[in-house]
Amino acid sequence: MNAEIIAVGSELLLGQIVNTNAKFISNQLSELGINVFYHTVVGDNAGRLEDVIKTAESRADLIIFSGGLGPTKDDLTKETIARHLGVDLTFDETALTYIEAFFAKRGRVMTENNKKQALVLAGCDVLANHHGMAPGMMFEKDGKTYILLPGPPKELEPMFQFEAKPKLAARLNDGAIILSHVLRFYGIGEAELEVAIQDILDSQTNPTVAPLASDGEVTLRVTAKAASEAEARTLIEAKTAEIQAIVGDFQYGVNDDSLASKTVETLLEKNCTIAAAESLTAGLFLSELAEIPGVSGALVGGVVTYTVDAKIKQLGIEPMLIEQYGVVSSECAAAMAEHVRVKFGTNIGIGLTGAAGPDAHGDQPAGTIWIGISIEGRDIETYKLQLSGMRNTNRLRAVKFTCSYLIRLLKEKY
Ligand code: ATP
Repeated sequence: MNAEIIAVGSELLLGQIVNTNAKFISNQLSELGINVFYHTVVGDNAGRLEDVIKTAESRADLIIFSGGLGPTKDDLTKETIARHLGVDLTFDETALTYIEAFFAKRGRVMTENNKKQALVLAGCDVLANHHGMAPGMMFEKDGKTYILLPGPPKELEPMFQFEAKPKLAARLNDGAIILSHVLRFYGIGEAELEVAIQDILDSQTNPTVAPLASDGEVTLRVTAKAASEAEARTLIEAKTAEIQAIVGDFQYGVNDDSLASKTVETLLEKNCTIAAAESLTAGLFLSELAEIPGVSGALVGGVVTYTVDAKIKQLGIEPMLIEQYGVVSSECAAAMAEHVRVKFGTNIGIGLTGAAGPDAHGDQPAGTIWIGISIEGRDIETYKLQLSGMRNTNRLRAVKFTCSYLIRLLKEKY
């Protein structure tokens, strides 16, 4: 089965919003082993929408629409599809009752156009909307499957995941179970990882192994198909062990883990407290950690010391040290890490300093970053990163590298 995703909405074409729905749906379809060959975006225009439907029908078995199910005039997805397929629109009583109750509860009058949201293609499978008003639809005609989903991601995502996906999976697999497990890697490039596990990639059947790179990280999605969940899990575990035997040193987590969440997990596991002094990242490192629930068990505080003056006055770094080595130096990163650790009385201190770019800092080229890690009772460690990306990519990479470096040090030395 191959699929095409049609996102409907002029605001997508105007650059006002990003088509995250297509990304989400594609990701979900890959878990089912369905190939997505095309993403199409079209404005709120019935004629052009019908044109793209015809094109999609000529090249896809499954066509998924996002957006245009709302109450306003420019919401014309289901009307256009109904006309194109020669199918009537009828009221779905459950959706209608839900919409009426929604207005009654708030003491508001329901206008006729709101009622329109409960119209569905006659004979479709209605997909319940538990986070909004317009129901989704799944409809089959002439060997093609059409799925219509509302635009807002908070409605579309649960509707696809919990209403449409199980129905699709059941149709595809005659009851077979499909299970996916994501392995997350850092410190190894996509090409390098693919070369290392080339034999596994070349010989894959069930489970399948799909690499994906983004933001300096690489993931491998291992997907198994089996008669039962237990069988699928066993297949995934065996394949995961094969992969880990080759590149396990670079794996930091699985599924929804992030470098920040693994950092916090490791800090809590080791019963460590942390503080950071940040220059080029200006709080980004601590902000990433603060996104993780439970971080208060480890995170004590930190300072942003952007200027030389701030490094001297707020952290107490010796002016001589900066004069001698400069702020973009191993010595400065080490001093920042040590001073912030002592200042906040933590087990661990982090110092981040560098030239984020686009300009060089004196004789230090853009992208030169020094990370200092001071662990109580150990020698201070520093690491130099030489990055080449854009300013904010460099800042984020510095944070990710600091997380992975810290996880490694804590596992090895604490
Ligand atoms: P509504 O009842 O809210 O009008 P709808 O099904 O008619 O829902 P649209 O009007 O097309 O959907 O879009 C509503 C909102 O959903 C948009 O303003 C936007 O915030 C979000 N949205 C729509 N399409 C996408 C998309 N492809 N990716 C991400 N967000 C989207």
